[in-house]
Amino acid sequence: MSARPLVDHSRLSINTATTRAQWTLAEAIKGYATLGVRGISVWRDQLADCGQKEAARLLADHGMTVTGLCRGGMFPAATAAERQAAIDDNLRAIEEAVAIGAQCLVLVVGGLPKGSKDIAGARSMVLDGLSAILEFARSAGMPLAIEPLHPMYAADRACVNTMAQANDLCDRLGPGVGIAVDVYHVWWDPDLEREISRAGSRILAFHICDWLVPTRDLLLDRGMMGDGVIDIPRIRGWVEAAGYDGFHEVEIFSAETWWKRDPNEVVNTCKERYLTVV
Ligand code: ZN
Repeated sequence: MSARPLVDHSRLSINTATTRAQWTLAEAIKGYATLGVRGISVWRDQLADCGQKEAARLLADHGMTVTGLCRGGMFPAATAAERQAAIDDNLRAIEEAVAIGAQCLVLVVGGLPKGSKDIAGARSMVLDGLSAILEFARSAGMPLAIEPLHPMYAADRACVNTMAQANDLCDRLGPGVGIAVDVYHVWWDPDLEREISRAGSRILAFHICDWLVPTRDLLLDRGMMGDGVIDIPRIRGWVEAAGYDGFHEVEIFSAETWWKRDPNEVVNTCKERYLTVV
């Protein structure tokens, strides 16, 4: 099933990573709002630079919906002390997400500890880390959004690589944990339609960009929607059939292309492509 055409920008969100080379958080809030974008997803380093109180004020003044705070996670580590430090950092991230009224805290769960070849062990550290922060997240009312990452990041960023794995974690952990579906990471998965349907109301966020051929950099060469090979409307249709009716968040890391453009042009291109290829 394919999605109905989008007719306005009321559910368009932009992740500040998309303009991070050009705009500070304060500039991004003003810039997006001025161009009619109502949703924003915020990164913690930019939030720290801006200051939590000032960021919360700017977001409220501009009427922005905060579709996520990026990011928590990074649970696996070689020592118990480092794993505890990661847990403590996640607890702080939950507080930051609450402070800016984010709809969820996005989790990039982490890869292999330094020197390790034990990916099963890393995955159990992820489960342990999630278990350790879940009660706090529940009491704070902050949903945790596990983001499965493309398997090319399994070693260094996230050893949760499929929707099926994320769904299994949600089954184990119960309420308070959901999933951020990013087309860049999951478009290739033969089980995607079934696992999106299985996720249902667990879907907390929907991230969009495109997969370029060739991809020249594993991290910083994401494409603008429409410039690559992902059938975004089809995946959006699945996500919406599963019950998701939230924002569509553009998240483009693009060192050689979009980070070199005028940020107003980047946002305007996002808006234009949103109505034509999303
Ligand atoms: Zn994402």
